Order: sequence, then C-alpha cells, then structure tokens
Amino acid sequence: MRLIFLGPPGVGKGTQAQRLSAKFRIPKVSTGDILREAVQKKTPLGLEAQSFMDSGKLVPDDVVIGIIRERLKESDCKDGFILDGFPRTAPQAQALTAMLGQNQSGIDRVLNFELSDDELIRRLSGRRSCPNCQAVYHVEFNPAKKPDQCDGCGGKLIQRSDDQPETIRRRLEVYQSQTLPLIRFYEDQGVLSRIDGSGNPEVVYRRVTDAVGK
Ligand code: ADP
Ligand code: ADP
Ligand code: ZN
Repeated sequence: MRLIFLGPPGVGKGTQAQRLSAKFRIPKVSTGDILREAVQKKTPLGLEAQSFMDSGKLVPDDVVIGIIRERLKESDCKDGFILDGFPRTAPQAQALTAMLGQNQSGIDRVLNFELSDDELIRRLSGRRSCPNCQAVYHVEFNPAKKPDQCDGCGGKLIQRSDDQPETIRRRLEVYQSQTLPLIRFYEDQGVLSRIDGSGNPEVVYRRVTDAVGK
C-alpha cells in the first residue's frame, strides 16, 4: 500500500498518518520530520534547510527529492509507505513518479485533506510538539496529560517556531500557490480521494479507512 497524504499545513495529515501507519504496519515518511531532525542535529542538510523552514518557505526541490529517494530505498518501505508532506510541488510529484516507475510501482491512493482556513489556523496555533519523539498535541483539541510534557516519552513540549501567526500565513500562501495544483495532477491519474478534515480525529480516521478501502 503506497499512499500520499496531501493537504494544507495543520489539516491533520501527520495525526492521521500516524494512526494508519500503526494499523497497516507501514512507515509514515514525513519530510517535515526528517528535516526537523536534521535541523536539531545541525547536520549539513539541517543547516541548509533551516532558514527556509523558519520563514515558512519550501526547502528546495532537489534537497527534498534527494531525501525521499534515499528514504524509500530503505527496507521498511518495501511493502509500502505513507508519504506525509511530500510531494508539495509539481517537480517533486514528477520526480516521485519517475522514482516509483523505476521500481515498477506507483501510488495506490492520494488522500487530499480539506479544511477551512479558520480551522487550519486554530489547529496550527494550538499545536505543541515533542522534539524528542515527534509526537503532536493540541492545547485544546488533544492536550497532553501533564501540561507541556509528552505522554509518551516525558519530553518537554514546544511550539514549533514556524507555528507563529506570521509564518502560518506564509505557509498557507505557499500551499495555495505551490501545492494546490497537485490535486489536479493526481485527479488526472485517477487516484485522488477527497477527505473532509473537519471533526474530531476519530471521525476523520473513519473517512481515511473508508477511502483506502480497509
Ligand atoms: P506542516 O504539515 O505543518 O506544513 P511540515 O512538517 O510538513 O509542516 O513541514 C514543515 C516545513 O518543512 C515546511 O514549511 C517546509 O519548509 C519544509 N518541508 C517539509 N516538506 C517539504 C517538501 N516536500 N518540500 C519542501 N519543503 C518541505
Ligand atoms: P499536519 O501534519 O497536516 O500539519 P497535524 O497532524 O500536525 O497536521 O495536526 C495539526 C494540529 O491539529 C495538531 O495540534 C493536532 O493535534 C491537531 N489535530 C489534528 N487532527 C485534528 C482533528 N481532527 N481535530 C482537532 N485537532 C486536530
Ligand atoms: Zn515525546
């Protein structure tokens, strides 16, 4: 099962990908997570990516395409994967098609999550993240049991530097101009499902499992 989760920042892709990944026992491959880890460790990749991420811009295509090319070669991806946050531009989508074509395999389904801008902003502004294990919380919709402490690993929760109002606005604009056109790209390939991203995570998850037919 090879899946792509498409949709604007804050729509709940990561939250849903996490759950489906556990159910199908296939990895969630998130370029955002990979990039943040690189930034944290101050690797050459992280140093290159940081200024783009902090300002809400996309990291250059060749960089993220290289990340995905290497990641999908790893053995845990051989039975499938959930791409969360990749592709985000037309050149990324074309590169992915070429990559998968070489392995004689395509994408089974692309889930496009939809939500109003007001709700996206509410979700992004209240998001809290564990820098240790990448778990994601929300101050109102999905609070940790103890304030500012990760339920899973006890790490101290942070607000991502790009989850600030100015950067959120920028990211939503970038989504509109660069990523939205991919909906049409995958629709034309006949693999797109639209997912209403509103409602609690349980309700959304049911729509997700319906769409992938499991
Ligand atoms: P969200 O889902 O909240 O938008 P992500 O964790 O997916 O956040 O991405 C955070 C940042 O990482 C993006 O704003 C961008 O700078 C960078 N990034 C992640 N994925 C990509 C990608 N496929 N192409 C370019 N930049 C990316
Ligand atoms: P994305 O990966 O698309 O950027 P996330 O999964 O990180 O989105 O979710 C963004 C924020 O919204 C997080 O704080 C998360 O806890 C919260 N969230 C996710 N799904 C829902 C939902 N169905 N209802 C309310 N809040 C949600
Ligand atoms: Zn944690």
